[in-house]
Amino acid sequence: MLILIAVLGGAWATALGVGARGRRTRREITEARGRARVCADALRAHTMELARRPDLPPDARRHVEHALGVYADAISSLPEMRSAEEVAAFGPRLRGALDEIAGATAAITGVPAPADPFTGLCGIDPAHGAPVTAPGEAGPRALCEACRDAFQAGDPPAPRMLFEDGGPVPFDAARYGPVLRPDQAP
Ligand SMILES: [Zn+2]
Repeated sequence: MLILIAVLGGAWATALGVGARGRRTRREITEARGRARVCADALRAHTMELARRPDLPPDARRHVEHALGVYADAISSLPEMRSAEEVAAFGPRLRGALDEIAGATAAITGVPAPADPFTGLCGIDPAHGAPVTAPGEAGPRALCEACRDAFQAGDPPAPRMLFEDGGPVPFDAARYGPVLRPDQAP
C-alpha cells in the first residue's frame, strides 16, 4: 500500500511538473509573440512614414510593398505559432524588413539608419507613427500628435505594455534579443 502511495505520489509530482513546464512554455510563446507583434507594428509605422514622403523615389515602392508583405505575414502567422522556436525563426524576416525600410529612408534623408526599431516612433506605442515632440519636451517620452494632445489635456497616456517573465513591462523594456534589437545590451 505504502509503495502504491509512493508510486502515485511520484506520478502526481511528475504530472504537476509537466503542467508547470507546459504553462511556462505557453507563457514564453505568448511573450515572444507579443515582442514580435510590437516589432511588426514598428515595421508598419516606419514603412508608412516612408511611403508618405513626397520625395519617395519610384524605385523605393518595392521596399514599401515588400515590408508591408512581411507585416501582413507576421499578423496572420504569429497567432498560429505554437513554439517559441517558430516565433524566433520569424525574427530575421522582421529584422530584414526593418533594415530594408531604414536603409531606404536613410538613402533619402542622408541620416544613418538606427539599429533600434523604435527610434523615430511614438514612445507610447510605436504603432502610432512618427513623434511630434522629443523626449522631455511634452512628456518623458517622444510623443505622436494624439499622445501629445492627451498629455497636454492632463490625461498622460501610458506606454504600451508587454509581458516579460509573467509581469507587465513597457514595450521598450522587454528583452527582444540581438536579432530584433541589436542596440539593446544583452
Ligand atoms: Zn502616440
